[in-house]
Amino acid sequence: MSEIKQWDETYVADTYARFPVCLTKGSGAQLWDEDGKSYIDMGSGIGVSTFGISDEVWVKAVTEQLTQLTHTSNLYYTKPCAELAKMLCEKTGMKKVFFANSGAEANECAIKAARKYAAKTLGEDHFYIITLEGSFHGRTITTLAATGQDVFHEQFQPLTPGFVYAKPGDLRHMEELLDKYPCAAVMLEPVQGEGGVCALDFDYLRGVQQAAHRHGALLIVDEVQCGNGRTGTLYAYEQSGLSPDIVTTAKGLGGGLPIGAVLFAEKTANVYTKGDHGSTFGGNPVCCAGAVSVLQRLDEAFLESVRKKAEFIRKELENAPGILSVSGLGLMIGLETQKDAAQVIAECREQGMLVLKAKNKVRLLPPLNIPQEQLEKAVQVLKNACAPTTM
Ligand SMILES: *Cc1c(COP(=O)(O)O)cnc(C)c1O
Repeated sequence: MSEIKQWDETYVADTYARFPVCLTKGSGAQLWDEDGKSYIDMGSGIGVSTFGISDEVWVKAVTEQLTQLTHTSNLYYTKPCAELAKMLCEKTGMKKVFFANSGAEANECAIKAARKYAAKTLGEDHFYIITLEGSFHGRTITTLAATGQDVFHEQFQPLTPGFVYAKPGDLRHMEELLDKYPCAAVMLEPVQGEGGVCALDFDYLRGVQQAAHRHGALLIVDEVQCGNGRTGTLYAYEQSGLSPDIVTTAKGLGGGLPIGAVLFAEKTANVYTKGDHGSTFGGNPVCCAGAVSVLQRLDEAFLESVRKKAEFIRKELENAPGILSVSGLGLMIGLETQKDAAQVIAECREQGMLVLKAKNKVRLLPPLNIPQEQLEKAVQVLKNACAPTTM
């Protein structure tokens, strides 16, 4: 590969195991590398490019804002920030929004809010936050502590104290922990993404909410990956009828630009007061204009098309040779494969398709507007890559 790879390996901190592909441009659900090879994009930049790459409507919204006003700081009012907050609240029934720049930052903000709320309502000893084993909440020292996977904790001790981990799906274990620890909140992903694309049982989710509220603890729902139409509803929690006290989101919200958001329901709407929290870049006009454009298009008709596509791809892949199980919700899909996931991913790449990994599974997060024709092609490539080689 060109000198780009050499520069990157010499000068970029060595935190990423990159695939041997240097991408140069994209259009919709298609990407090209520097040799002109094209790929179907079944990862959308880890669930970020909601409407694919360089989507016309989105580009127009973003470039119009770019030529008007790029950055102001939060010392001043700007329209995209206010408009996005209004849209988020009107679409969800939540009451207030804080804007961050990433998923981890959104979760940090939610955790701080829960601690402050609990200190006031329950007492300062109620600082524990229960998260789930196999969860992923971010890479900062606090969100790493929230992440219920030991592999992420090694080498970075001491992490922020006050996090305990419940077994996902085991309501009794959750209740034990709530009895044992004075808690501020329970925090969970309705569909665990990095943990292996595992959708949590709806009854379990409702049970957790009830149990948390019985103890005066808040329910924080991390929709960083599963939110913004990904699962076929605007937010995944809607499907199980939850009414969370705090919702965090990021990845797909900006459609390709960095933005995180924390949504506060009635109870928590006024936890934060002036000076409690902040972010220089938070609510950036260009990122917010991108997010407004994304949210405007996630209407009921579009979400129905997401559900249809999800149904199609799931039906095609379930019981296909070499595919042991299909997990997740909507267009957030995990495939347990007979072959090693890494091998399937490499074969897909050779055949001109980019897919992701989550634990030992192949993970699919296609752009939500991927055309049916490309989806059918993607299914074919996947089936070929997953089929056991007969020799
Ligand atoms: C990706 C992810 C995060 C972290 O988001 P960053 O933008 O990488 O900080 C947090 N929670 C979930 C569920 C995620 O999938």
